[in-house]
Amino acid sequence: MSFEELYGCAPEGTWAAPGRVNLIGEYTDFNDGFVMPLALPHTAVAQVSRRTDGVLRLYSADIEGGIVQLRTDELEPLTNTSWAAYPAGVVWALREAGHPVTGADIHLSSTVPTGAGLSSSAALEVVTALALNDLYELGLDCNQLALIAQRAENAFVGVPCGVMDQTASACCADGHALHLDCRDHSIRQVPFDLAAQGLRLLVVDTRVKHALGDGAYAERRAGCEEGARILGVPALRDVPYEQLTEALAKLTDLADPKVRGYVRHVVSDNHRVARTVALLDAGDVRGVGPILTDGHASLRDDLLVSCEELDLVVASANAGGALGARMTGGGFGGSAIVLVEEVHAEAVAKAVTEAFAEAGYTAPRIFTATASAGARRLS
Ligand code: ADP
Ligand code: MG
Repeated sequence: MSFEELYGCAPEGTWAAPGRVNLIGEYTDFNDGFVMPLALPHTAVAQVSRRTDGVLRLYSADIEGGIVQLRTDELEPLTNTSWAAYPAGVVWALREAGHPVTGADIHLSSTVPTGAGLSSSAALEVVTALALNDLYELGLDCNQLALIAQRAENAFVGVPCGVMDQTASACCADGHALHLDCRDHSIRQVPFDLAAQGLRLLVVDTRVKHALGDGAYAERRAGCEEGARILGVPALRDVPYEQLTEALAKLTDLADPKVRGYVRHVVSDNHRVARTVALLDAGDVRGVGPILTDGHASLRDDLLVSCEELDLVVASANAGGALGARMTGGGFGGSAIVLVEEVHAEAVAKAVTEAFAEAGYTAPRIFTATASAGARRLS
């Protein structure tokens, strides 16, 4: 159903916000560290009109069930377990921050694959936040919108994510990757125009999501905090890579020996972000390939968040001629990225697909990620 059919008149405007893939810097965001996502061409689109009567009407063209109607002054965190919690959480977070949002009619639709580690949830939140920001003239910048969206997901939906996904969706720029410092939220757009270099970034959605994911995330978070506490730093971001060996020597006698690996992953992945930025600034995109594959080994062996399907993407892509590959996002399924010469892209995709068939896995979904624009008004 269109906005007009649902709500009886045309929307005041239309906005879009993208999903993302993270190039490098995984599980570093909640350690006050560095990440480097890029926005996908896939977007959540919102058509929105204001209301003044405290009524919030939400509709997703992608979900059965019609309009969800709520009252802005009755929104309660953790009470709504449906998809509507994401946009409703944004309205709640805006109102909590003192912004006078007095209702809205919202029509959502999205081309971001859900549950594939490509942040369809952040896209939904950010598009809602941007639309309300514009309509209610709240004057929030992209970082502030990302924080509102993150608060919606953390406190209202109840998912303890870091700030990367929402910042990527809100702040990315066409043709660039986003270098984000998750401590002070400063950002820099780093040129990432692969086509101009004869390269491609493939996203391989494994189409699996192993159940351990949620508890494992919380355990990694707690383990990293424990590591920082023992090392006497506010966050693992404060352990310089040059002092990693020294730091690890202090982590030999632990209640949970896995913490040592978590620390090694976070400190080394922050360093991999710095190396990636330096290479991109120097125009050496091909040099990023091996860093991706190193990052994957670290996620697999030290952070213990990969799975057989993700490992198979990386192994088969690299064996098939890729420059490098790694899982991206939280792991335990979801997606991997593969950096590849344009001329080898098809052969590498075929190698991965064949490896999956041979292993008896569901065929993966493979597409090209072009660094796309962040959230924006369409009309
Ligand atoms: P990811 O963000 O990695 O795609 P999440 O589990 O965080 O995975 O978010 C997926 C959830 O976001 C879906 O289960 C659904 O509740 C919500 N969602 C995403 N896209 C849509 C959409 N187009 N319409 C309604 N809900 C959506
Ligand atoms: Mg999500």
